[in-house]
Amino acid sequence: MQKISNYINGQLIEPVGQTYLNNYEPATGKVYSLIPDSDERDVELAYKAAADAFPAWSITSAEEKFKIMMKISSLIEQNLESLAQAESKDNGKPISLARIMDIPRSASNFQFYAQAITQFSSEAHQMEQSFLNYTLRQPIGVVGCISPWNLPLYLFSWKIAPAIAAGNCVVAKPSEVTPMTAFLLSKICIEAGLPPGVLNIVHGNGPKTGMSIVAHPHIHAISFTGGTTTGANIARIAAPMFKKLSLELGGKNPNIIFADCDFDEMIATTVRSSFANQGQICLCGSRIFVERSIYDKFKTAFVSKVSKMQVGNPQDENTKMGAIVSQSHFEKVLSYIDLAQQEGGTVLCGGKAVQLEGDLKDGWYISPTVIEGLAYDCRTNQEEIFGPVVTITPFDTEEEVLKMANSVAYGLSSSIWTKDLKRAHRMASLIQAGIVWINCWLIRDLRTPFGGIKNSGVGREGGFEALRFFTEPKNVCLKL
Ligand code: NDP
Repeated sequence: MQKISNYINGQLIEPVGQTYLNNYEPATGKVYSLIPDSDERDVELAYKAAADAFPAWSITSAEEKFKIMMKISSLIEQNLESLAQAESKDNGKPISLARIMDIPRSASNFQFYAQAITQFSSEAHQMEQSFLNYTLRQPIGVVGCISPWNLPLYLFSWKIAPAIAAGNCVVAKPSEVTPMTAFLLSKICIEAGLPPGVLNIVHGNGPKTGMSIVAHPHIHAISFTGGTTTGANIARIAAPMFKKLSLELGGKNPNIIFADCDFDEMIATTVRSSFANQGQICLCGSRIFVERSIYDKFKTAFVSKVSKMQVGNPQDENTKMGAIVSQSHFEKVLSYIDLAQQEGGTVLCGGKAVQLEGDLKDGWYISPTVIEGLAYDCRTNQEEIFGPVVTITPFDTEEEVLKMANSVAYGLSSSIWTKDLKRAHRMASLIQAGIVWINCWLIRDLRTPFGGIKNSGVGREGGFEALRFFTEPKNVCLKL
């Protein structure tokens, strides 16, 4: 069986303890590879390699970093098909999605930050004619990057690229649930000539490997994407050590639909924003609010489209709904469908596990599920499910829908559908979210600030925000 290796100091190596964890294929429910069960000894090796590489990397010119990162990006593009196959097998996502979204975006992340570092500049503040202040933006040193399973290479590279572009050396951990493309990235980094130690990838589980990174006394910044509870645990350990923290956490995003929207465009996009990647994108709109005058029309059209979505083999070209990432997540999603019914909800379509045939019979599949009739403040409508489950709720006024939309502890993203631009801007300014899409969804310009408010996180990724996070500003004041 294939064994994944850690990538430390430019080498692919076994974990010190020589123990491994099972890596499952969600489509079949079977173990198909083994991943290092790394512990604090592996993290220490990775830290040492990163600390040794830092003096040279931190003064490497922007042009040289640009060349290496562009090479990584182009190798990802050249290997797009094999990386997409690996991502689909490891995560259960449709191969078509990995091909058009996950892998191209991973290449773009390296390309974008290769270019961004050549454009990054700092400020100067002159005091009359007598003093000049200027700000140095210096790399932090060794930083930790921890990412989740839903968009494995996409989110892993979204952290690593700005961290190394800014001159830091990295100890990174992908989710143990989806380690494969991070392992393939190690090979690409070796081929691209990334100097040993600049990026180190340590595989293993969160509480052991992840926590060893977070608790390491000399890793001075942590960029984390994952669940809110994990984010709180990380903050609890990191805050007393005064580490810089970027936390991109969970969401419970509202999708607000007014009667005057472009109905056909809204329906087509709402099917995607509800169920893309089996609903396992932090930006999916899981609470759909529909103006009462079009509620029945919406319900009929939406349920009709969703009922036709076939759950199938992720590796099949035509599949739009693949497998749920793990058995524990599959059970969690099903438990929320039960809860919704206990809370008085009516399942309009889906609502069940699906058993496929042959090799796929033990895979983790759930049919896309639409539920109505729930109070906006019940648990189903307040807690993150992170699966193919949406609720629909009618509303009468802007005030009412804002109250319902903002009632959750989260504040990541939101969508508003209306042709009334004044209303769209009014709603956008009042909605509690870090990202608002008006008449669209998941349009991403990598220069924009990305992140959430409330329990959805602290800090922003994207554009120069990430380069600012991964550098320390130092003010220098000079008497003229
Ligand atoms: P988790 O919080 O369970 O895990 C995220 C990462 O943290 C994984 O690598 C995990 O390792 C690791 N980890 C777990 N426990 C610890 C710990 N105690 N110390 C350090 N690291 C730890 O999230 P999921 O992987 O389940 O991802 C789903 C969540 O991510 C959802 O809540 C989703 O909303 C959120 N998310 C947020 C995004 C955003 O941009 N705001 C984007 C994408 C997802 P391992 O898996 O190996 O145990």
